[in-house]
Amino acid sequence: MKTTEHLSPVRLPDLPIGAEAELWDSIIIGGGPAGLSAALALGRSRRRTIVIDAGQPRNRFASHMHTVLGQEGTPPEELLARGRAEVAQYGGVLHHGAVREVRESTNTRGPRRMIVSLAGGPLLMARTVIAASGVSDHLPPIPGLGERWGATVLHCPYCHGWEVRGQRLGVLAAGPMALHQAELLRQWSDRLTFFSAAAEPLDDAVVRRLRARGVVIEPSPVIEVLGTGTAISTVLLENGQRVEIDAIFTAGEIRPHDRYLTPLGLERTENPMGSFLKTDFAGKTSHERIWAPGNISNPSANVPMSISAGTFAGATANMALVTEDFDLAEAAQPLDSASAVK
Ligand SMILES: Cc1cc2nc3c(=O)[nH]c(=O)nc-3n(C[C@H](O)[C@H](O)[C@H](O)COP(=O)(O)OP(=O)(O)OC[C@H]3O[C@@H](n4cnc5c(N)ncnc54)[C@H](O)[C@@H]3O)c2cc1C
Repeated sequence: MKTTEHLSPVRLPDLPIGAEAELWDSIIIGGGPAGLSAALALGRSRRRTIVIDAGQPRNRFASHMHTVLGQEGTPPEELLARGRAEVAQYGGVLHHGAVREVRESTNTRGPRRMIVSLAGGPLLMARTVIAASGVSDHLPPIPGLGERWGATVLHCPYCHGWEVRGQRLGVLAAGPMALHQAELLRQWSDRLTFFSAAAEPLDDAVVRRLRARGVVIEPSPVIEVLGTGTAISTVLLENGQRVEIDAIFTAGEIRPHDRYLTPLGLERTENPMGSFLKTDFAGKTSHERIWAPGNISNPSANVPMSISAGTFAGATANMALVTEDFDLAEAAQPLDSASAVK
C-alpha cells in the first residue's frame, strides 16, 4: 500500500476548551480533492482554516487520474500537492494526523462550538467542521486481486476504461453493483466476461440480455488471479477452467470514514452501496455546523465531483459564518445604537 506522508507537521497547541483566541473558523477533516477544495474556498474567504489529513486518498493506488478536465493524466498526488500549496497560499494550515472524534461543546453559553480530537494529540475547537475523509474499498479476498488494485484491477471505467479499451476484460461480481458494471463495461470492450458467482442465480432475463451483447457469463467462482507484476494474464476458476483476461473491473465493499462522527448521531441514508451520511444539496449534514462533501457522503463521486462538492461546502460554511458574525454583532449592539446611526 502506498502512503503519502506529505503534510509538514504543524505544531498544534493543546487548547483549553473555551479558548476563543484559538478558535478555528473551520476544521477540515481530510485533505483529498473535497477537503482541499473546501479549504481553498474558506481560505480565500479569509477564514481561519486547518486541514487535518491522514494522507491516504482513495485513488493513491492509481498512477494517473482520468476524466478530470484540465488535469487529464495527472498523477493523483501531484494534484493534491498543488492543492496543498494553493491552500497554504491563503493561510490555510495543513496538519498530518487522524481525527478520532468530533463532538459538540457542552458550554451552552454563546454560539455552538465543535470539539475535534486527534489521535494521541490535542483538542481543537471550531465554529464549523467539514468532514471530507472519503471512503476505503474492500475487495473480495481472492489471491492476486488486491495487489493489482488501481493498475489492472479497477472499479470505474470513466477513470480507467479508455486505457484498457478493446482488451479482454472481466467483471467480477462482488456486490449490488455487479450487473450494472457488467452492462456498463460492454461499452469499452466486446471481449467481456462476467464472473457471476457472487450474483448467482441470475434471472433468465438477465442472462438473455447480457448474451444479446456478446457478454460471456462464467458462474464458477474465481479462486485466483494470475499474472506477472501488476499485469494479469489468467483468471483461475473453481471448476479448474482458466480464462485469459487483461483487466478486471469489480466493486468491493465501500466503507465511509465517518466513525469519528458517531457521537453526534447524524442522519444517514441507505443506497445500494451502503449507509452514508445524509447531506443536502450543499453537502450539509443534519447538524448545522457539519458538512460532508465528496466520497464520504457520495461514494460515486469522482475527483471533479469531489472538488465541486468541497468547493460548495466551503462556500456555504463561509456563508453560515457570515450569518453568525452578523447575528453576534447585532446581539452585542446596544439597543439605542441603531437609531444613533441615523
Ligand atoms: C483505484 C482508484 C482510482 C481512481 N481513479 C480516478 C480517476 O482516474 N479519476 C477520478 O476522477 N476519480 C478517480 N477515483 C476516485 C477518487 O479517488 C475519488 O473520487 C476522490 O479521491 C474522492 O475525494 P475525497 O476528497 O472525497 O476523498 P479522498 O481523496 O479519499 O481523501 C480523503 C482523505 O481523508 C483522509 N482521512 C480519512 N479519515 C481521516 C481521519 N479520521 N482524520 C483525518 N484524515 C482522514 C484520508 O486519509 C484521505 O487523505 C479513483 C478511485 C480509486 C479507488
